[in-house]
This record gives sequence, C-alpha cells and structure tokens, in this order.
Amino acid sequence: MITSLVTELKCVTCNALRKVRSDGAPAQNWMTCEVCGNEDGILDIHYDFEAVRAAWADRPLVERPHNHWRYAELLPLASSGLPWQWQVGWTPVVNVDRLAAQLGLKQLLLKDEGRNPSASFKDRASSVGVVHAMQCGAKTIACASTGNAATSLACHAALAGIPAKIFVPQTAPEPKLAQLLVYGATVFVVEGTYDEAYQLCSTACDQFGWYNRNCAINPVLVEGKKTGGLEIAERSSDFGGVPDWVAVSVGDGCTIAGVWKGLVEMHALGVIDRLPRLLGVQAAEVAPIKYALEHDQLPKPGDGTTMADSIDVAVPRNWRKAVQALRAAEGELVCVSDEQIEAAMRLAGGHGVFAEPAAAAALAGVVAAKEANIVGTQDRVLAMITGSGLKDTRSAMRAAGQPIRIPPTVDAVAAALET
Ligand SMILES: [Zn+2]
Repeated sequence: MITSLVTELKCVTCNALRKVRSDGAPAQNWMTCEVCGNEDGILDIHYDFEAVRAAWADRPLVERPHNHWRYAELLPLASSGLPWQWQVGWTPVVNVDRLAAQLGLKQLLLKDEGRNPSASFKDRASSVGVVHAMQCGAKTIACASTGNAATSLACHAALAGIPAKIFVPQTAPEPKLAQLLVYGATVFVVEGTYDEAYQLCSTACDQFGWYNRNCAINPVLVEGKKTGGLEIAERSSDFGGVPDWVAVSVGDGCTIAGVWKGLVEMHALGVIDRLPRLLGVQAAEVAPIKYALEHDQLPKPGDGTTMADSIDVAVPRNWRKAVQALRAAEGELVCVSDEQIEAAMRLAGGHGVFAEPAAAAALAGVVAAKEANIVGTQDRVLAMITGSGLKDTRSAMRAAGQPIRIPPTVDAVAAALET
C-alpha cells in the first residue's frame, strides 16, 4: 500500500517521535504517545514537504477536483482508493463588504462550512477518519460529540457502508439527533455531560475494538480539519491575499489547531508568503482555553453553559494544541456572550449566511475584537462559519424573532407595514 508522504508522528507534550510502519500503511494504533498516554500524548503528523512539492509540480493543484481530496499528499491516507466523489471542502468564501464597512474593517470574509455534506466543518475530519478506518480494516467506527462531529461521522460512515456508534450528551439539539438517526447510526444519548459521553465512548472503543473517531486523541482527524487552513491559503489570492486574521470558535481546540496546521504547512510549502494571526473565540460562560492560555493548564470545570452547543466544552481534550496554535500565531482569544452570538447570527443571516450559534460565535468574536481594538480598521478578516443554522432552528428562532401573523387580506399587509 503506497501512502501519502507521512514521515513521522510527534508527541506534542514530550516531542517523542513515533515512526510510521516501514511500508507506510496507516495504522489504527496511531492514536497517542506511548510515553505520555491518552490524556497528554496527543500526536502531530509530519510530512515530507520535498516530496509534496514534487508531487504538486507533477500534478498542479489547479488541475485537481474542487474538494479537499485535492490535498491527498498532505493526508495520512493511502492514495489509492480515495473517495474523490465525496464532495467535502472547497466551501464558498463570501465577501461581505457591506458588513465590513458597517463594522469598520477593511475586508470581512465568511467561509461557509455549512455547505459541506452534513452541513458542518466536521465533515472534513470525519471523511478523512472514515477513510482511515476503512484502510485500517476497521469494522465499526465510533465517536462522542456535542453534535456536528457525530452527524458528519454518521453521514460518511453511511457513504462508506460502515456501522457508526454515536455517543451524544443529552443537550444535543434535536435537528442533530434527527440527522444521526436518518443516517442510520446507532445513537446513545448519554444522561450526563459531553465529558461523560466522551469517556464512555473511549472505554467502549477499547472494549469492543471500534475505531475511535474522537478528534482530540486521533491525530488523523486533525489532518482533515487542516484542509480548512490549506484551502484558505490556496484560495487567498482570490480575495486579495492572506487575511490578517482568521477567526475560529473554540470548543475542544481541534478545529483552531487544525486550521493553523494547514496554514503553516502551506507557508512551509511556499504557497503563501506570510501567515495570518488567529482570533480564537470562546463562550463567556465556557472558556477553559482562555484560562489555559494564561495558566498553561486547564481550570476546574465550571458549571457555566452556552447556547453554542458545539463549543460548550468544559474539559477541552485538545487544549494543548489549541494553546500552541494561538501562541505560534500571535493569536488572541476573546469571549462572547450568548446575546452577542445571537446578534452575530442576525448579522451573518442578513448577508446571506445562515450560521449555527457556535459558527456565529466566530463572527461575534470579530465584532468584539474590533470594539476592543484588537482588530484594526485596516485589517482583513476571515471568519470560519463552522456549521449551518439549520442545525439548531430553535436557537435561530430565538435569535431572529417572530414573523408577522396576518389574515389573508392586502389591507392587513398594509396595516402591518405601517406599524
Ligand atoms: Zn509524549
């Protein structure tokens, strides 16, 4: 089996190197550092950039399909048998110039990840995870998720014809549960927090031999998320160059770390000549990564919560990668309230982008960072809109208000227009 151009896996805590198998084949045991264990031994995947450059010279990116499999050499997968027909990635970048003017920014771009197959950014990770699982010979794939990772896993498991076992906390919004069930997954609603659902899933994977899609400990998943950063870099020439800031909402920490890894790799490969800064955004009531950034450790989990269920993560599993990314990117982390998130849902919607609360949080963070003079008037900003508003219609209705109810007469229309 010929693989992509992975050279080694490196522990983010102790820097220990883990060699890939001599035939380069993906292995299911690529999960965590043997020294540091599951809690701290998160691995990072490295590639042979010389070989990637040569492959891209041989078959230029511009000649490849418009989905994230175009970056095959930078994915930890065997290149034969990639599902090129799965339309993941290459999501639209909406240049919201009126909103930029309103907020006092030079440029504002919304990258609409809601256009992925199951309507979230997580499709990037799940599609890569499912292919990796298949290449490892896994018979069942499992994950714990606040919602979107699970629905995207169920979607891609269904595409691949592999059974999916999903653990969700009882707070998961109903549309996400509906998606899971329609995709045919076995769904366990765990009577507890996300953290408890996560622990249970890991234990079940060990006990039943399932492939663990959990992004925090599975480095392969971050490689899927990375494609968001690869795309921002590759397409930056379409919207006036590398943005000054890339804003990403932060829950477990994997998404911001993944996007950053993609940007860094494209910089190393010479596709972009400079790197943006990262603007991390957390919910005011659930902001453990803000604490970790300042104290180099996680706080005791609080009992705060947020309407943005996708980032309602009190114990982020990948906080180290997120903190490392924010520091390397000269990043800033701002916190936003649910009211600010609702306002951002209306702002994005008013410019043609329907964002779920956690996705709108990134835009809310841009607004907050502009008000705090973290982001300046000459800055060009790209916000990752990580999931569709259709994922959580109850929150959308709360943010958007009520329609005008009238009897079926034109007089009633006229009267309503006057009020
Ligand atoms: Zn280690």
